[in-house]
Amino acid sequence: MPIPNVLLVNDHPASLLALETLLNRTKEEYGYEVVTAQCGEEALRKVLNTQFAVILLDVSMPGMDGFETAEIIHSHPRSAGVPIIFVTAHYADEMNRLKGYQKGAVDYLITPLIPQILLNKVAVFVELAKKNMQLDNKTKQLAELNRDLQVQQMQDLRRVNAALEAEIIERRQAEERAHGLATRDALTGLLNRRSLIESLEHAIAAATRQKRGLALLFLDMDRFKTINDTLGHDIGDELLIEVASRIKHSVRESDMVARLGGDEFVVLMEGLPAYPDAAEVAKKIVQANAPVYPIGSHRLKTSVSIGISMFPQDGNTVQELMKNADLAMYHAKQQQRGSIQFFHEELNARLVERTRLQNEMQHALENNEFELYYQPKVDIFSGRVAGVEALIRWHHPRMGVITGGQFISEATDSGHLVPIGEWVISAACAQARVWLDTNSPLLKLPIAVNIAIPQIHAELPGAIRRALTQHGIPPSSLQLEITESLLIQDLEKATSVLREISESGITIAIDDFGTGYSSLSVLKALPIDILKIDQSFVRDLGKNVGDTAIVAAIINMARALALRVVAEGVETEEQLSILKDLGCDEYQGFLYSQPLPGDALVRQLLQTTSA
Ligand code: C2E
Ligand code: MG
Ligand code: MG
Repeated sequence: MPIPNVLLVNDHPASLLALETLLNRTKEEYGYEVVTAQCGEEALRKVLNTQFAVILLDVSMPGMDGFETAEIIHSHPRSAGVPIIFVTAHYADEMNRLKGYQKGAVDYLITPLIPQILLNKVAVFVELAKKNMQLDNKTKQLAELNRDLQVQQMQDLRRVNAALEAEIIERRQAEERAHGLATRDALTGLLNRRSLIESLEHAIAAATRQKRGLALLFLDMDRFKTINDTLGHDIGDELLIEVASRIKHSVRESDMVARLGGDEFVVLMEGLPAYPDAAEVAKKIVQANAPVYPIGSHRLKTSVSIGISMFPQDGNTVQELMKNADLAMYHAKQQQRGSIQFFHEELNARLVERTRLQNEMQHALENNEFELYYQPKVDIFSGRVAGVEALIRWHHPRMGVITGGQFISEATDSGHLVPIGEWVISAACAQARVWLDTNSPLLKLPIAVNIAIPQIHAELPGAIRRALTQHGIPPSSLQLEITESLLIQDLEKATSVLREISESGITIAIDDFGTGYSSLSVLKALPIDILKIDQSFVRDLGKNVGDTAIVAAIINMARALALRVVAEGVETEEQLSILKDLGCDEYQGFLYSQPLPGDALVRQLLQTTSA
């Protein structure tokens, strides 16, 4: 019997050689030959002369690219059924993946490839090819036997017939294995992305014919990356399997559940789902994920955020429905983790606005549109101003003055944060210089600047040193505020950079304390001087017993670690008096002063002291 051939097509000689070497590893064991081609045209010539079990086809090639090559191969009756697996390093996005599957690929792999997975996939197609060859052989034998029927005995025919039947069964099984591999997600057993897209295409066509609706739920796990990074991939994989199972059990048998990869899942509801039906299923999934997951020795807590798009209201192509459900999911996540959001046009408008804001940010620095406002921090016992916090404001040409809270996260996402952050440090130093020179009441009090995580890198201490030197002010005039929840993401790097800054004489505060998950040991490892209690705890002081207890606990803990405590967002006398009783050191908030431009703040302070 001939041996099945595997065709590798890649224009890059080194990649081709690497792939060939990899496949040669198992060619004895599985019994196949490796054939190579360096461009689409050469691949077509080979396909005309040789039957292939599977083709591994590079997407980006000069001249005829992978998509075009696949199209021509499949248009030829002789090679119409050859399975094609696309392999690419550059076309990893959704659109190209989708295009690949629409060109008839059985798989779409992104390099770097995992050797064992690739070899297993190839082995399945080789096996299928062998079964096909055997079947062809048997069919030929049978034809010959039939021709010589007069001389052959009837018994022979029966034997061959039985063998033929067995072959057919085996072939069907091999086919099923190949099909399962191509349509199922290996980890969870759910449908994979490719079969979801196919199913969705069919569902849209059927729903259009029958004038019915569809609901597409796009699910994304919250904090999965953190779990995976801190506890390892084995635990992460087990969690994914459990989450998949809870999702599966929350929906009806007829609903389709797929895993897109990573921590993203999709549920497709056919029939006549109305908005409340889709919301009901989404709620069930959210609730099913609420109980902790006991995995190994861990008790893991996660949640899923869900975005929903409806057919035909929110789009009538696979792309539109997926994109809009994804966008809705993104907004769900931003509002609150573990929440549900239907797509509506306004989300698109918000996305457009966000992108617009990010583009405008690019020119805001050159056009001098940023300004620092300052809000005093007050010593609770003496009632004296103990320092100020610099808060950025943007004089936006279209929207008027907007606050840091309204654009810092956009700046972080779009990569504008580092230059803006350097401007903040330098502007704060310039202000300190002015207060020194004018002998203002704020002279010598530290100015705290907020630092976001992407700013904490090896160049930060140098940038701070340059700003201090340029304006001739001592390190004691500067303080850094770092948000707790951001800090813990890369503790090791943050610790070394912050240590260097702290050793130069600059004090460091942990901002919004209580919103992240810093353990005591994390706090002890970092060179911190001050804890700022997040305003969400201060807001309900006196109203909510739980919050009062948390604030008391934070203050006691700070005492034990010899840190100063500042309460943020103090708006009422009642909050202030409770904080005083609890032994808090400083407070900050509208009760004492709004954030104000530097000169306005000085005027206000002079008025209050002279009054
Ligand atoms: P944050 O550092 O916790 O700043 C406190 C926020 O609470 C400020 O909002 C301030 O205006 C507001 N606030 C002050 N007192 C009160 C009060 O009594 N009640 C209430 N409800 N709010 C009060 P803002 O200016 O919008 O800043 C929000 C966040 O944006 C800041 O939180 C900080 O994390 C970030 N941010 C602000 N300026 C900068 C900056 O220059 N660089 C960086 N990286 N982040 C900044
Ligand atoms: Mg702050
Ligand atoms: Mg804060």
